[in-house]
Amino acid sequence: MPQLPIVAILGRPNVGKSTLVNKLTGSREAIVHDMPGITRDRLYQPAFWRDRDFLVVDTGGLVFDDDTEFLPLIREQAAVALAEASAAVFVVDGQLGVTAGDIEIADWLRRQSVPVFLAVNKCEAPDRGALQAAQFWELGLGEPFAVSGIHGTGTGDLLDAVLPHLPPVESLDEREEIRVAIVGRPNVGKSSLLNALSGMTRAIVSPISGTTRDAVDWTVERNGQSYRIIDTAGIRKKKNVDYGPEFFGVGRAFKAIRRADVVLLVLDAIDGVTDQDLKLAGRIKDDGRAAVLVLNKWDAIEKDSNTIYTFEREIRARLHFMDWAEAIFASAQSGQRVGKILDLVDVAAAEHRRRVSTATINEVLQEATSWYTPPTNRQGRQGKIYYGTQVSSQPPTIALFVNDPLRFKDDYRRYIERQFREQLGFTGTPLRLIWRGKR
Ligand code: GDP
Ligand code: GDP
Repeated sequence: MPQLPIVAILGRPNVGKSTLVNKLTGSREAIVHDMPGITRDRLYQPAFWRDRDFLVVDTGGLVFDDDTEFLPLIREQAAVALAEASAAVFVVDGQLGVTAGDIEIADWLRRQSVPVFLAVNKCEAPDRGALQAAQFWELGLGEPFAVSGIHGTGTGDLLDAVLPHLPPVESLDEREEIRVAIVGRPNVGKSSLLNALSGMTRAIVSPISGTTRDAVDWTVERNGQSYRIIDTAGIRKKKNVDYGPEFFGVGRAFKAIRRADVVLLVLDAIDGVTDQDLKLAGRIKDDGRAAVLVLNKWDAIEKDSNTIYTFEREIRARLHFMDWAEAIFASAQSGQRVGKILDLVDVAAAEHRRRVSTATINEVLQEATSWYTPPTNRQGRQGKIYYGTQVSSQPPTIALFVNDPLRFKDDYRRYIERQFREQLGFTGTPLRLIWRGKR
């Protein structure tokens, strides 16, 4: 998951930092402690404004010795918080006016490299607010923003000023390697498919040793995109008859699935979906991997005009829990539609890595809940969805914050998931929804 930009909130105790943080974040729970690369002992709260997601961290009160000198430990902590922040909001008390401590902090902040925005809090009084804020020009930090953490006034202007200083969320490198696993029962045509793919891709780079001794990966390239085909040894080795059934067993396929971005689940169009296929499909879904269903040996089927529909209907019915995966009828032997398989892999990989902004997610939720309001329980209390946010990708995972998860039964949860699918796509990848209650 790409790192979100961080906005640090600083100021003396009691100026209203936590009140302001709650206003900016909508009191969203800190749900991001397991994100890599951020300090663990601070509370990071997700926030969004317009179409941008970011994290807000309250650095705690900046306490002074005799009101003139920073306590060294606190200054150190604040410096660490600033070091990882893209912008800082310095909060002061507009009703109290400029204090010696504010001047001290401002002098220190001007020597830091992060852009600083001055929030003059407690300025809710319409007649006095602007004047209260104006006193703080003397801090030399530029325009003071009159805000009220309690009422929320002025926070929009403040955020509008902050937003341009947040770096864009690290965008997906489209040329990043895509890891592909080819799995299926024996004899469905996995190694034939590997050959066909190798034949149509431009360069076969030398095999790469995988993690286990005999797992060999290959890298192939097409149109500047690299694909790492996982465990080609496992696909090919069966030609040496002596390996026991375990070697091709499901364990090896499970390992390949775990390492993949996109799994090609190869099915034999003649046999349809067998129980072994279901087992592999279940694992793909549980592991949260993207997938493409390859219905191979299509050339060997006697067809009339309805065949493709009848086949697809049967396969879809058996694999109903994977309705998000694209299915393609192909022939590894003749090469028919093998190129199209890679097109579908590209789409599935991109969707698997995709991030959707919190603003967009909440638009979908708003629309969905206004068409079909959440159910009411027997005590007459209605389910409420406060907001949703995407907490990770690969696979895309959306946390929904609700008043009580028990009020949302399966049918409503499926309805919400369907709405996300319809509005946002996510073709080729599983989508995870996490329903969380307010504590
Ligand atoms: P912190 O120590 O900086 O985190 O400050 P708090 O958020 O705990 O607030 C300190 C006090 O200031 C509390 O009594 C708040 O109710 C009050 N306060 C916070 N924001 C406002 C505001 O916008 N207007 C007024 N009048 N009081 C506020
Ligand atoms: P694997 O065990 O899954 O790796 O399957 P193989 O690639 O070894 O193929 C098993 C058998 O199916 C071989 O005899 C292939 O020639 C045949 N086969 C593979 N793909 C196709 C196909 O698209 N059409 C037809 N008719 N036969 C195929």
